[in-house]
Amino acid sequence: MEKETVVISKGYDPLKYNGAVKPPIFLTSTYKFKSAEEGESFIRVALGLDKGEEGYVYSRFSNPNFDIVEERLSLLEGAEAGAIFCSGMAAITSTLLAFVKNGDYIFYTNPVYGGTEFLFKEFFEKMGVSTLHINAGSDTPKLIDAKINSIKDKLKGKAVILYIETPANPNNVMVDISAIVKIKEKLVKEKIDAKVIVDNTFMGPVFQSPLEQKVDIVLYSATKFIGGHSDVIAGAVLGSKVDISKIKAIRGMIGTNGNPFDAWLMSRSLETIHLRMQRQMENAVEIAKFLSKHPKVEKVIYPELYNKKSEQYKIYKKQCKGPGSLISFYVKGGKKEAFKVLNNVKLCKLAVSLGGTESLIEHPKAMTHSEVDAETLKDAEITDNMIRLSVGIENSKDLINDLKAALDKI
Ligand SMILES: *Cc1c(COP(=O)(O)O)cnc(C)c1O
Repeated sequence: MEKETVVISKGYDPLKYNGAVKPPIFLTSTYKFKSAEEGESFIRVALGLDKGEEGYVYSRFSNPNFDIVEERLSLLEGAEAGAIFCSGMAAITSTLLAFVKNGDYIFYTNPVYGGTEFLFKEFFEKMGVSTLHINAGSDTPKLIDAKINSIKDKLKGKAVILYIETPANPNNVMVDISAIVKIKEKLVKEKIDAKVIVDNTFMGPVFQSPLEQKVDIVLYSATKFIGGHSDVIAGAVLGSKVDISKIKAIRGMIGTNGNPFDAWLMSRSLETIHLRMQRQMENAVEIAKFLSKHPKVEKVIYPELYNKKSEQYKIYKKQCKGPGSLISFYVKGGKKEAFKVLNNVKLCKLAVSLGGTESLIEHPKAMTHSEVDAETLKDAEITDNMIRLSVGIENSKDLINDLKAALDKI
C-alpha cells in the first residue's frame, strides 16, 4: 500500500473494538495479565532484560494508542520500529542516553534547534560527553571527516554519534546525508561504534526519508508537522528494532513517554499529513516567489529558489522530495524593519513553532535563536533583518496580501 493509505488504515482493527472506526483512547495506567508467568515475562521484556513477546504492563512502557502511532510512523518512514515521546526534546534526550555515556562523542551540525544546542552543552557536556559542532553546508562531510581524523586516537572504544539537522533551522542550509553515512561506515570498519542520527522535523516524513539513505535513526519533534495543528507537544524516534528497543527501555526507565490522548491526537493528525504538507508546500512556493520580487525584501532562502548551479541545489534534489514550507527571508534594513513586518501581519500569527495548519511568523535572532552565541549567529546568517515564516494551509492569495500589506508598512 502507498503511504497515504497506510497512515489511515494500519495499526488498528475496528472489528476488535465494537466496530468503532476510530480508535478509542485507552485511558488506563495498568493492564491485567492472563497469568503470573505472562506478567513476569512481559515485565522483563519491557525493561529490556529479555527478548521475547511484548505485552502491555504499565502505560509508562506502552499503550495501545502509542502502538497505533508507532506502527503508522514506522511504515511512513520505512523503519522497522518506532517510539513516541512526550516532546521532541524527550525523544532526543532518550535516544542519546541509549547510546552515549561519559567519555563518548557527539559531532553535530550547526545550527541545530536551540533546545538541542542547549541540551548538548548544558547536559551532555556536563555528563562528560564531548559535543563538537561543525557548520552546516555543502562541505560539512569534509569538515566532520577532518575533525574526526584529528582526534582519531581518542575515539578508539568510544561511541561516536553524528547528529545532523537538515535543512538547518532557520537558514534552510542542507547537509548531504549520504556523505555523512559514508563517514560513519568508515568508522564502523575501524571498529568504532558510530551512528548517524537525523532530526527530520522540517521535511519529514513527506519530503525526506533519511532511513532510505541508511542513517541509523530518524527523530522528530512531532509537535510540528506530525501533530500539525499546534495543539500537542510530542516527539518520535524511528529506527531498527534493536535500537528502538534500547531507546524504549530508556523511555520506560526515565519516564519520557507520552500519554494516550496526545498519542490519539497524533494518530488522527497523521491521516492528513500528506494533504497538509503538500498544500503547505504549494503555498510556500507561491509566497517565496512573491517575496523574492518584493522591493522591500533583500533575499529569500527557500530550496526551490537555491541557485540551480549550486552544490546546495544538488543536495536538495538528491535527498528531498519537495521544498517543504519553511521560508527565511531578509527585509531591507535591520531589526526595526523586520519588527515592522511582524507587528503588521494580521493573518500570519506572530509565534514560535512551525508546521501547524496556520501560518506562523517570527524573528529567529530575537526569538527561537536568542540563546545562540554571536559567532554561530554570524556563521548561520541569523541577522537582525531575518524573518522565518512557517506557511500554513490557508489560501495563498490571502497570505500574500497579508505579507504585502505588512511589507508595504516599511
Ligand atoms: C521544535 C523542535 C525540536 C524540539 O521539539 P519539542 O517538541 O519542542 O520538544 C527539536 N528539533 C527541531 C528541529 C524542532 O523544530
